[in-house]
Amino acid sequence: MKYISTRGSNQHMTSAQAIIAGLAEDGGLFVPEELPQVDLSFIEGLTGLSYQERAAKVLSCFLTDYTAEEIRGCVERAYGGGKFDDETIAPLNIMEDVSVLELWHGPTSAFKDMALQLLPQLLSTALKKTGEKNQVLILVATSGDTGKAALEGFKDVEQTRIIVFYPENGVSRIQRLQMVTQQGSNVAVTAVRGNFDDAQSGVKAIFSDKAFNEELHKNGAALSSANSINWGRLVPQIVYYFSAYADLLKAGRIKAGDKISFTVPTGNFGDILAGYYAMRMGLPVKKLICASNTNNVLTDFLRTGVYDRNREFFKTISPSMDILISSNLERLLYHVVDDAGQVAEWMSSLAEKGSYDIGAENLQKIQAVFGFDWADDTKTMDTISSIYDKKHYIADPHTAVAWNSAYHYMAEGNSEPMVVVSTASPYKFNESVLTAFGHSTAGFDEFQLLDKLQAMNSFPIPAGLASLKNSAVRHSQLVDKTAMKQAVAGFAAGK
Ligand SMILES: *Cc1c(COP(=O)(O)O)cnc(C)c1O
Repeated sequence: MKYISTRGSNQHMTSAQAIIAGLAEDGGLFVPEELPQVDLSFIEGLTGLSYQERAAKVLSCFLTDYTAEEIRGCVERAYGGGKFDDETIAPLNIMEDVSVLELWHGPTSAFKDMALQLLPQLLSTALKKTGEKNQVLILVATSGDTGKAALEGFKDVEQTRIIVFYPENGVSRIQRLQMVTQQGSNVAVTAVRGNFDDAQSGVKAIFSDKAFNEELHKNGAALSSANSINWGRLVPQIVYYFSAYADLLKAGRIKAGDKISFTVPTGNFGDILAGYYAMRMGLPVKKLICASNTNNVLTDFLRTGVYDRNREFFKTISPSMDILISSNLERLLYHVVDDAGQVAEWMSSLAEKGSYDIGAENLQKIQAVFGFDWADDTKTMDTISSIYDKKHYIADPHTAVAWNSAYHYMAEGNSEPMVVVSTASPYKFNESVLTAFGHSTAGFDEFQLLDKLQAMNSFPIPAGLASLKNSAVRHSQLVDKTAMKQAVAGFAAGK
């Protein structure tokens, strides 16, 4: 299977090459040339398997240039070895009305671990396979969770170095602590004066700076990405949609072939797009509901067909969804219209005017699969507190945004089984969660807040958060958004 650019340049890459490159030469994203198909017996065959085995089966549909043994090795190193605090890796918590797919049992307590434990393994295997001698320098812009998860995934991985940029005031205190205390001999963490989109635009500009990249090459380094634009980030996420379906089958909640729906708290559109790939492969999915916070650019797009980023940017209590440019949407557009020239046109309109319009016909195709809804902070808080009252379950704000949308959708008379995709441990967003419960958080430090939340439920505080208390700050660099390139150059030079 070959990978091509969403914008139509003539690159045909193997998956290993696409994972090393990250972004296509023309600025587009790599997509599989055709989508693999599976049947119901493939899906039923997953029920008796471990998560690692399920992952190997699904990944092998896409990574056709990796041997079965290479895939097994990658998956074992990513999800084995006790790095996840639940041996089923992505447990499905089946409740009476909805099922909650908990994607936050990895080392950094957020769903990004699902992909970022695996990506470094896929990448280092790809380097070996292709005989690439350059050191790969991973550049990441993060709205919080990606940065830490990428650092954990890449720390001390051979032939790689990683530099992470985060918006100075755009991440939670816990997220910041997780990053600035990061260990490892090949890591750097830098705050940027600006918001997430500033950081992401800065990273994109560095990637497309030809002269700078040539300079790095001369010094034996090549840039790559761990953002969800990298195919190696996206493909691991397809697995848990299959895994959730298999768990519902196993529990006798559905019969093979029954359609189910997923509600996904969405920012960069990577998570929900993985669900779309699963559906296109043959997973019986009725709807994928895209849940946004007050930065509801995707809600408006899915309603009107007009993507317009010219709008106010809000800081919310679900910061990992505070995004105005959802990069992975480009992949969906490509698969829906199957016309790279058209996608390239829309993307240049987005770059120049900040907006594009896909027209009624394309919109209809998208709406046949995607639902859309959003919740502001007040509604999100209400949802956290009402779920706790009814179920004694604590949802983090991102999960609550989705849960609220799922209930809306179900209240409209949709009765198929619903999976709420849960993307972060509530402990990571303890301040908002405790506020939702009416507790005062003023005057308490992060660690007292963790203890307060612990007292309310039976989930233990994740080890990676508890240990932050005694970790030293190792990264305190702060730069203007115009100085990001110098920061990369400095890191690259300081081998
Ligand atoms: C990244 C993230 C999201 C959004 O996922 P996308 O793939 O960017 O749509 C939602 N919730 C949490 C906690 C996240 O870290």
